[in-house]
Amino acid sequence: MVYVHVPFCRSFCTYCDFYSEIAGAQLYDSYSDAVCAEIRQRAGEMDGSLKTLYFGGGTPSVLPLAVLTSLLLALEEAGYGGPFTEFTMEVNPEDIVERGPGYLQSLKSLGVDRVSMGIQSFDDALLRWMNRRHDAERAVQAFRMVREAGFGNIGIDLIFGLSNLSDEVWDATIERAVALEPEHISCYQLTVEGESTLADLVAAGRYTEADDAQCRRQYDRLCEKLSDAGYRHYEISNFARPGFEARHNGGYWNRTPYVGLGPAAHSFDGTSRSWNSSSLDGYTRTVEVLSLEEARIETLMLSLRTDRGIGADFLQEHCRKEDIDRLVEEGALERNGTRYRIPEDHFFVSDEIIRELI
Ligand code: SF4
Repeated sequence: MVYVHVPFCRSFCTYCDFYSEIAGAQLYDSYSDAVCAEIRQRAGEMDGSLKTLYFGGGTPSVLPLAVLTSLLLALEEAGYGGPFTEFTMEVNPEDIVERGPGYLQSLKSLGVDRVSMGIQSFDDALLRWMNRRHDAERAVQAFRMVREAGFGNIGIDLIFGLSNLSDEVWDATIERAVALEPEHISCYQLTVEGESTLADLVAAGRYTEADDAQCRRQYDRLCEKLSDAGYRHYEISNFARPGFEARHNGGYWNRTPYVGLGPAAHSFDGTSRSWNSSSLDGYTRTVEVLSLEEARIETLMLSLRTDRGIGADFLQEHCRKEDIDRLVEEGALERNGTRYRIPEDHFFVSDEIIRELI
């Protein structure tokens, strides 16, 4: 599994604190040189046990095709060329509309077979508040363009749990999402991240977070409507048409080793995690070997976020029997053959359940 971080955005969203620079042509060459050098240096780490490639960001759709092509060539020369089990590209709707069908055909011919589009909302007032570049109409237009270009695996991202998102608008948002018939929908509850504009708004008293009851209501509506529309709720924040579950992300959740390339990218080799510094200029990598306790906690947290859950043997070996029995009794955990999982109606409080097991 290989992840390539593209740390460029044309503008910064209110809620986001990912490392990213304002996109600009003068930065792309040094970015490309640095990532190609990292690819050559780490060629031996890229094994193909799950051969996925994921360009995330930031905003990968701002990258010139020449840069994308040179990164793919470097990967190929390093022994990690296509075809891939899954090759995902995150895109911004505005870039798709601006760059047009020719760009989409180029992505296809480069091997991209899955497009993940950050739509976030279909409400123009909310999109403006989020400082997104697109409006609802452009999002729909971009989605249709991707479909017309022949992509049969499109995911979209939405956000709920904003205090300025009414239940009515949220219902309408889900309905518009379903009407587009994406293969995959990721929905994230808004959180206030430390370095974001939103954190400043909260500190200045200009935004009050949504209360738990509202977030819970909106999550329940989401689960209900997407289930009615035939989506499988296979991870706390992810829904897919059967057979379209994200394979790359699935690898993260079952702790498959992966190589993360580019500034701020994270990697995992099975026993240690590493991360590149958040800088375009000569970024460096820090490696941290996970202790057995950290590996145990990570396994619990990642596995129990999925509807596949966790092996009964692992859970029984690493958690107290009385905690498991009590959670089963309360309906917060269920046994499914050789595995335990959190039932969907308890997904919303999964963090608390996992904390109790830890
Ligand atoms: S949400 Fe995406 S597009 Fe917006 S600032 Fe963050 S990385 Fe950039």
